[in-house]
Amino acid sequence: MNKYLLTLCFALCSLVASAQQIPADTTSEHEIHEAIDYSSKERMKAEMAAEQAKIDSLSKLVTPEQAARIDSIVAMRLRLARKRIESVPAIDSLAVLDTLPSGDDAVQVVLFANSTWKYVRNRAVAKDSTIFEKYWDTEKLFPYKDIEYSSLPKSLVIDLVDSTNGYHTPYKPSPIRSRYGPRRGRAHQGVDLALKTGEPIYATFSGRVRISQYNRGGYGNLVVIRHDNGLETYYGHLSERMVEPNQWVEAGQVIGLGGSTGRSTGPHLHFETRYYGQSFDPERLIDFKSGTLCRETFLLKRSYFSIYSRASQDFEDEIANEEQDKKEQAEREAMRYHKIRSGDTLGAIARKYGTTVGNICRLNGIKSTTILRIGRTLRVR
Ligand SMILES: [Zn+2]
Repeated sequence: MNKYLLTLCFALCSLVASAQQIPADTTSEHEIHEAIDYSSKERMKAEMAAEQAKIDSLSKLVTPEQAARIDSIVAMRLRLARKRIESVPAIDSLAVLDTLPSGDDAVQVVLFANSTWKYVRNRAVAKDSTIFEKYWDTEKLFPYKDIEYSSLPKSLVIDLVDSTNGYHTPYKPSPIRSRYGPRRGRAHQGVDLALKTGEPIYATFSGRVRISQYNRGGYGNLVVIRHDNGLETYYGHLSERMVEPNQWVEAGQVIGLGGSTGRSTGPHLHFETRYYGQSFDPERLIDFKSGTLCRETFLLKRSYFSIYSRASQDFEDEIANEEQDKKEQAEREAMRYHKIRSGDTLGAIARKYGTTVGNICRLNGIKSTTILRIGRTLRVR
């Protein structure tokens, strides 16, 4: 890496040097030769000095350890690259026949009734992790009170899937009804996916159920799962919860049924992704429309926790947002346009659409005296 950088430097220096022009105010041939001689000598001196300076600064900058680090950054880029990861087959808890040991103590084999099988982590062995012990509270939604936002790492590499940890879309592939983030000054801490009451909701990754309770803050029937990498996923408004606190779950396991419990205007899944209680946009991980995971490894940046630090979702805000959305949608649907033809007058157009000249002028920002250009489209409602 070191050598490569130096070669690149030399190449760049000579390229820059050869592009420099000789002074334009030299007249005679002799003077030109002298000028070239002089300027090329000066240039060479300057080049050598510049190259030496570069070498000095590079040898100061790139130690062998740093060169190795640069290599590992390249490898990390590859790990973080976008990929499409499909859902693993869904797991119906009733269909599990048996769990057997594998050659590796940390891994077990689960046999299903349909003669398929898969590897899972042996939770009895994999107990060295403090993920499921520290800040483990099955009652309190946000048990991270003593963790300051500023004490979280600026960025963190999080492995989402590996050979024993799959992914499953939280609900079947579906478009987002309401996205994450601030809208009209109101915050939305998750994404909303419209559904029919009773449709299955799946654990996105494997992990342990921290919360399974009816939440009075507006989430209604809520399941929170903490995953092996420390991320937590929230599933709100469920009609039924099918898991208990402290239960281990696998990706694709049905954890509840979709519904409209809590503060909700209609059946939908309110889905959140959080790290130490801080929410970030679930679309950074999941393409909900195709139901696929976007990457195997995720670089979680502190700056992603943009909206109000560790705040719970305010469902009054969510409902106000939805109502405003519906109003705007109805307005869009009610809009009508008229393409101006020869002989049209504002009065005739207004009569045709049962409106007034004043209304048409207001909707289009024109005056009643504006000349109507043929082919122009006017909004009439
Ligand atoms: Zn929501």
